[in-house]
Amino acid sequence: MTESFSLPPEAAGAALDVARSNLQRLKTVPELASRYTGCETVGTLGELAALPPLVKDDLNTALAHLEPKAEDGATWLFQSGGSTGAPKIGYAPTGFYMAGVAAHWQPLDRDDVFVNAWGAGRMWGAHFLAAGLADLSGCRIIAVGSVTRDEYADWLGFFAARRVTAIGGTPSVLRLWFAHARAAGITLPALRKVLWLGEAWQPQLAEDMAVVAPDAQRWGMFGSTETWVVGTNTPDCPADTFHPLPEQLVHAGPDELLDFTTLNPAMLNPVLRYRTGDAGRITECPCGRPGRAMQVLGRRDSVVQVRGLGLHVDEVVARAEQEPGVSRAQVLITEQRGRATAVEVLLLTDPDAGVDTERLRKEVLAATFTLSTAFQHDPESFRVRTVDALVSNDRTGKTANLVVREES
Ligand SMILES: [Zn+2]
Repeated sequence: MTESFSLPPEAAGAALDVARSNLQRLKTVPELASRYTGCETVGTLGELAALPPLVKDDLNTALAHLEPKAEDGATWLFQSGGSTGAPKIGYAPTGFYMAGVAAHWQPLDRDDVFVNAWGAGRMWGAHFLAAGLADLSGCRIIAVGSVTRDEYADWLGFFAARRVTAIGGTPSVLRLWFAHARAAGITLPALRKVLWLGEAWQPQLAEDMAVVAPDAQRWGMFGSTETWVVGTNTPDCPADTFHPLPEQLVHAGPDELLDFTTLNPAMLNPVLRYRTGDAGRITECPCGRPGRAMQVLGRRDSVVQVRGLGLHVDEVVARAEQEPGVSRAQVLITEQRGRATAVEVLLLTDPDAGVDTERLRKEVLAATFTLSTAFQHDPESFRVRTVDALVSNDRTGKTANLVVREES
């Protein structure tokens, strides 16, 4: 695989203006400034691809420093998932950038009766984002949010009576709606559109949809709390393939990891080579719509179980690699009969860098929920040390972020 972008090089001019402005914003963040040393110019897509990628912790650090505020209207704060460290916050202005989405993707129209079944509250953005899109379409909106197990049948009866034509939610929640309808023998013959966002499409959903609402088709959005909506698809596209919006630049590296750069100057989050942990590739969509599409191949953020808790290896590595003098880091887990006896962060350092491994160890331990919890009673089993060489695959020469070893 090689580097590829959702935009051809000749179309990148204005896009790079926004990337440069985000680079300047990120350089003002004291904790991140050193990693951008030497990144003075971003004149081409190739130079953009050479910038260090951002992960969630980096954006959280940047946003805590920048505290962005919308030019007009209100500034909304949302929280994204994540099992390590403190809650991750994302910002968005009134409208959630959905006017830009609606300019290219119109699953709803004025005649629709739309059920917004994304959960509302607890600082999650999806319900409000979908409400923004529905608002722009001029349709009728039924804001249901999440319901409890014993409420499905009554609500489904209400939807049938209201001749609901569209419903939206995460695929897991949509599965509950369609499974309950099927089990209760309720059909929704007027339903034609199923909007989804937040997870990969689940093929089992189509089976229940075929019984409950035979005319319904899926309309997907791909994005995150940090990037907002990156791309969309229609019933003519494969469920894992999305058309990036013009205000988003998608890059697939040789490792097939996707990163995203906003091209929207109004974007509050400084999204510059932001990695969601999704793997993918730039491709053509079989629907025939011109332009480059992205195929999402699923999560590859190397979450590994450590004493029953998920450890985000890439986040630990990224944090270690932010340390001045560290050129590369790797997580080495030692196990005995499947249980982690030690977790080590191995560091390749520049000669004479004098990296303070004990301070870095304390910082990583304190900032990583999985490590501080898993090693609560034996914190000395989490170590950070410098090495002459990281552990590499002898055959391919690849050096993974994670190596797991059985204790001999
Ligand atoms: Zn398509």
